[in-house]
Amino acid sequence: MSDVTPTRVVVAGGGTAGWIAAMALARQLGRLVDVTLVESDDIGTIGVGEATIPTARSFHEFLRIDERAFVEATGATFKLGIQFENWARPGDQYIHSFGTFALQNWVADFQHFWLEARHAGIDTPMGAYCLEHEAALAGRFSNEGKPALSYAYHLDAGRYAAFLRTIAETNGAQRVEGRIADVRHQPESGDIAALVLEDGREIEGDLFVDCTGFRALLIGQAMGSGYDDWSEWLATDAAWAVQTETDEAPPPLTRAIAHDAGWQWRIPLQHRTGNGLVFASDYLDPDKARDRLMGSITGRPRSEPRLIRYKTGKRQQMWRGNCLALGLSSGFVEPLESTSIHLVMIGVTRLIQMFPFAGSDQAVRDRWNTMADTELEKVRDFIILHYKLTERDDSAFWRRCRDLAIPDSLRHRIASFTSSAQAWQAPDDLFRAESWLQVMLGQRLQPEHWHRIGALMSEGRLEGELERQRAAIAAHVDRLPKHQDFIERLLSGKAQA
Ligand code: FAD
Repeated sequence: MSDVTPTRVVVAGGGTAGWIAAMALARQLGRLVDVTLVESDDIGTIGVGEATIPTARSFHEFLRIDERAFVEATGATFKLGIQFENWARPGDQYIHSFGTFALQNWVADFQHFWLEARHAGIDTPMGAYCLEHEAALAGRFSNEGKPALSYAYHLDAGRYAAFLRTIAETNGAQRVEGRIADVRHQPESGDIAALVLEDGREIEGDLFVDCTGFRALLIGQAMGSGYDDWSEWLATDAAWAVQTETDEAPPPLTRAIAHDAGWQWRIPLQHRTGNGLVFASDYLDPDKARDRLMGSITGRPRSEPRLIRYKTGKRQQMWRGNCLALGLSSGFVEPLESTSIHLVMIGVTRLIQMFPFAGSDQAVRDRWNTMADTELEKVRDFIILHYKLTERDDSAFWRRCRDLAIPDSLRHRIASFTSSAQAWQAPDDLFRAESWLQVMLGQRLQPEHWHRIGALMSEGRLEGELERQRAAIAAHVDRLPKHQDFIERLLSGKAQA
């Protein structure tokens, strides 16, 4: 074994981002790094952020995290998608599931066959051809058997941080409790030399990871990286959050219910439910928003509701000098598609892959920053899509969304889908073609034309093929256990993890 001098990594902040970063770096880079995490119990964490997307599973697998242990420790449930309610019109409902669709070939994707069938008078909802969609509707789930379901998790953020902390500490990460009061810079480079704590202790390091949340103590305050404000595109700027007692068996989906100035989430966990009301304070008074949330929850509140304010946008340079920001300090786009935890995971994965053993290098930083910027911009466009494609005109908020000038790339996507039913996953896109498809159709965007290859199928064959797929999916869903039963079996050790 060759000798290495470990790189000293200091993680500032112990929320979800901080512990994901500390755990992944310590576990994956072993003796190549010395990881110290500084957090303040007095300040606490944001305490929301409990829905994920399927990439969380890949990240856990990559870091050898046992699924059963994770589900047990964090009160997690399984998630097959998001149910959107009242988005295009009040009373509407659709699911953006994590699944794919049957019947595709190299010439045309599923929607073209489905649209052809609809043209011929066969009017089955598109979700009937997607296993995850149907399982979500039926409240069924299993991680066993074939075809395997594509899924993510709902998790308790506080418990998740504690779970990750145990793994991080087992892998050598050190935790320091204390309040960061200042930063000492290196005199020549301006890089960070040490964090200065309120009691005078100094934590020196080579690389600093800013996970201090919206405060952005290092990347913003100490390193002066500015913030690009995206609120012209996404008007919401606040949320009330409250946890309630669980009053139903947890469905394997997140609910996102639009109201006249934003939307409301409902995230089911094993032991409680997370609720929140996201709103634009230009259109809804915070006191009224609070009343609205408290008036619509079911289940007894476990605490007082908390108000969280935010500014949509991103840090101009997420990695500047020897300081890299992950989590809320790096930027924030509202949680409609549960993307923030993913961005932390992908950010630290890339940091591990591009780790600056020889000191922070401009070319590496530029590459990391470009990729992180692109990811967040793509997420932003996907979120804007949900607001832009509304027919609601029952409030000033929705009229603003409908009339919004949107980024060119998004306008092009909407135009392509309208004219030719084309949906795609561009390079660097987080969301798959099926995601764009489900949201565009769910928001009532109607294609005027589609690929006509389905018309070449002999009479009755298209209908027969679709019916065969639908019946196979329905039969498979019937064989799946109820989500709650599956969790109980998993925790009792009778289902595979
Ligand atoms: P925080 O949780 O705020 O942690 C900051 C840490 O820094 C804390 O430990 C704090 O003590 C420490 N700290 C700060 N200042 C100091 C100091 N001076 N000295 C010492 N320590 C300090 N993401 C999803 O993926 N899915 C969701 O469903 C989702 N829902 C969300 C809903 C809302 C309303 C919001 C605002 C965000 C949501 N997010 C969601 C985002 C998610 O919450 C965050 O990405 C995630 O929790 C990471 O937060 P963080 O660790 O960056 O910040």
